[in-house]
Amino acid sequence: MPTLTEHAEPLHSSGPSVVSAQIAERLNGVRERLAAVGRPDVKIIAVSKTFPADTVVAALQAGVADLGESYAQELVAKHALVGEAIPSNAVDEPTWHFIGGLQRNKVRKIAGVVDLWHSVDRLSLAKEIAKHAPGARILVQVDISGEDTKNGCAPDAVGELVDAALTEGLRVEGLMGIAVRSDPAAARPGFRLLRGLADAHGLAEVSMGMSADLEIAAEEGSTMIRVGSALFGPRT
Ligand SMILES: *Cc1c(COP(=O)(O)O)cnc(C)c1O
Repeated sequence: MPTLTEHAEPLHSSGPSVVSAQIAERLNGVRERLAAVGRPDVKIIAVSKTFPADTVVAALQAGVADLGESYAQELVAKHALVGEAIPSNAVDEPTWHFIGGLQRNKVRKIAGVVDLWHSVDRLSLAKEIAKHAPGARILVQVDISGEDTKNGCAPDAVGELVDAALTEGLRVEGLMGIAVRSDPAAARPGFRLLRGLADAHGLAEVSMGMSADLEIAAEEGSTMIRVGSALFGPRT
């Protein structure tokens, strides 16, 4: 079996490796932060972008079950390397979440790998996913930042996009949002808006909260947080 070091470094993943014991300690820290706000039930998605595949393997050994990736090429490369590195009986198969901005022409490449698509923000993308991964589980990404960002549909367009995605045969499980990054306290209104939109459309899952604002997201009804630097340290 080839070892990780025999492969060329995948795109973006050029940062240093992080060892399992350190990730386990930090994972515990994140769990404590969730417990401190009464939400130990929130799912933790480990976002390893820029870190190499052996760090992902270390995360799985540390007890991580959900992996988040932001770049299509990096996802494909890491998925292959992680699959080789882990004996199938060592840890359960991880769940792979695609959380980054997604171009339509990248969908086919990752369709066989993604378990939950977090960043579906337009009908053309939903159609492409339905074509290459019929019946896929998705979240509709909503722009909750109030900033003029590229990613996320407008809050008042959620119903239409959810209905259209359902018509395409996709399983719409919930909504995803990225809060204003400047100041964690400023994130709360956006999180509250997203939870309210999910409830209004009868959707159970809400993907919101990152390393800096996960308590606020959890308090506002997040069901899954996407955590990078709090588990792996700063990105290079
Ligand atoms: C990078 C990223 C995260 C993790 O960010 P941290 O601040 O390092 O926790 C979460 N969500 C998305 C969409 C990201 O791109």
